[in-house]
Amino acid sequence: MTTAAPRQVDAAAIQRLLDGEHAEIRARVRALLASEALARPAEPLPPAEYRRKVLEWAQALAAEGGTGLGFPEEFGGMGDVAGSIAAFETLALGDLSLLVKCGVQFGLFGGAVLHLGTRKHHERYLRQIISLELPGCFAMTETGHGSNVQSVETTATYDPRADEFVVETPHPSARKDYIGNAAEHGRLAAVFAQLIVGGESRGVHALLVPIRGEDGRPCEGVELSDCGHKLGLNGVDNGRISFDAVRVPREALLDRYAEVSAEGVYTSPIENPNRRFFTMLGTLIQGRVSVCGGAISAAKAAQTIAIRHADRRRQFGPPDSDEEVLLLDYRQHQRRLLPGLAKTYALHFTQQELIAELERTFSAEDQPERERREIEARAAGLKAVATWHAVEVVQTCRECCGGAGYLSENRFGELHADIDVFTTFEGDNTILLQLVAKGLLTDYRDQFGELDPIETVGFVAGQVYETVVERSAVREIVQRLTDDLIPGREDEHDLLDRDYQLGLLRWREEHMISGVARRLKRGIDAGEEAFDVFNECQDHVIATARAHVDRDVFEAFARTVGRIEDPALEELLSRLCDLYALGTIEADRAWFQEHGRISSTRAKAITRAVNTLCAELRAAAPTLVDGFGIPDAVLRAPIGLRD
Ligand SMILES: Cc1cc2nc3c(=O)[nH]c(=O)nc-3n(C[C@H](O)[C@H](O)[C@H](O)COP(=O)(O)OP(=O)(O)OC[C@H]3O[C@@H](n4cnc5c(N)ncnc54)[C@H](O)[C@@H]3O)c2cc1C
Repeated sequence: MTTAAPRQVDAAAIQRLLDGEHAEIRARVRALLASEALARPAEPLPPAEYRRKVLEWAQALAAEGGTGLGFPEEFGGMGDVAGSIAAFETLALGDLSLLVKCGVQFGLFGGAVLHLGTRKHHERYLRQIISLELPGCFAMTETGHGSNVQSVETTATYDPRADEFVVETPHPSARKDYIGNAAEHGRLAAVFAQLIVGGESRGVHALLVPIRGEDGRPCEGVELSDCGHKLGLNGVDNGRISFDAVRVPREALLDRYAEVSAEGVYTSPIENPNRRFFTMLGTLIQGRVSVCGGAISAAKAAQTIAIRHADRRRQFGPPDSDEEVLLLDYRQHQRRLLPGLAKTYALHFTQQELIAELERTFSAEDQPERERREIEARAAGLKAVATWHAVEVVQTCRECCGGAGYLSENRFGELHADIDVFTTFEGDNTILLQLVAKGLLTDYRDQFGELDPIETVGFVAGQVYETVVERSAVREIVQRLTDDLIPGREDEHDLLDRDYQLGLLRWREEHMISGVARRLKRGIDAGEEAFDVFNECQDHVIATARAHVDRDVFEAFARTVGRIEDPALEELLSRLCDLYALGTIEADRAWFQEHGRISSTRAKAITRAVNTLCAELRAAAPTLVDGFGIPDAVLRAPIGLRD
């Protein structure tokens, strides 16, 4: 292993790389966040005032024109999906209630109208949604069903005599719950309900239902209530909605994937109800990708504060010295902060790849279905891992700042409270990782869209078992051979070899996939119920998905480093990429040893290598956070401001 620190790099060069092709949009959002229009009061506001303020900020953003970025030009937007996600990510450097308010209005509500509706809906609503003249809700979750959204119980029954749908909350646990914008500001809601036509249930579909008049009073038959104070995000008015025989015209159905004729004939281009449902959900992927970017930005803010503080704060020192030592010079402090920083960079680069893929998918007329499924799974996995990362980083950074980290002015309290729920909304992380595993286990076959987790078990055992197991087994053998043939396997030199790092991460992933597939098949072959077979392997399934995301994130980081032309920047980020890879392997070294993949000597060498990399990257750490480009006026934390 080398021991020299990488050459110094200009923070501006790092920021150029991170901001990428959306540098201009990001600069505009940074400037807006730092402006008077979005100025945040020094003291926390009482909830009612906070909600009002957040609405005013969102209106200011709409007035500035940026809220239409991701919408088609013909309806007042700018047709720049990737740009809109970059803007959202940057907005997350500021107040997260504002971010979530915008996410609900322009991402979830606007996204449902855009992607699930058809031209008549677009013409009627999109301009008012972009301008925020029509605040709305995305009402999917119910008190009784959150993760299992396919089982929501609100009904929308077609009445052919009146040419209307009747929307009904059949019992209290079917009320819509946690819905952003519902408690105070929302006037129209995209309501997800079981569609009943001619007495037959057609599964979950979305309809636009007015919930509140311009005077702020609930519409007839609509009952609205407030979710009350939350752990965080108290600038967002989350509420509950119940419907008592609320009538809406037939055109209220968002009918891109299913139509109901005046006579009450139901038609859909997608025959299989499961596939139809997952296709509808799939179109809303942009929200998930945005939440993921938001979480990465929150991690960047926390790390900027903690690393700058650690580069100024001194505690203890050698007995013969009259100067104490900087926190960041302590090995343990480096250990707590730098692998996490490497992971934030890794996630950032993966997110940028995902945004580019998403842009291609959205702009292509006929994107192959397999690619769409792969992007959906990638977004699900990255959202889960990035939001968990952000929660962990905020806590670690808070502790790394000691008592100062506990003062509200230094923002960890706010970041902690607000980022927490990112692991739950836009798809609970555990549920999302099951989706990732489903893709891996079914090899993203055609049937992917039709299978729930339990049906996946039978499918794997029956149809793709051979492919999944053989594919991974071949790689396993190849990896074993190449690795065993590497001379000096027990020394540290090849630890920095990208292929070696990739080999380990890939081996773990493939080993887990084939292991799960074998267990599922064995269970089914033994005549067990699919539900029980799946449940017995569930922890294994989730671990497999995480291993897959780790490998994917590493590859994205390595690809980005491979494209950097500036040698000093390449050297620095290459070292950071090593730290991400070896830090990830080290964190699961017990597994690698348990499976005979690395020896204990090797495991110790990896730990030594992580220590060395931390020491080498210590000097560059402040520059690496400067590269995030967070203006002082946006960062706000006194202990985290620039010198
Ligand atoms: C602040 C906030 C804002 C929100 N905004 C909106 C909104 O605007 N619109 C909207 O429609 N919804 C919204 N939601 C709802 C959110 O999407 C749901 O809370 C989320 O989908 C989880 O559902 P749940 O709360 O019912 O949890 P549950 O589904 O009950 O999950 C609880 C726990 O059980 C675990 N679990 C569930 N099923 C399984 C399983 N099969 N195997 C193993 N573990 C399992 C989960 O991982 C989780 O840890 C919001 C929620 C919050 C808190």
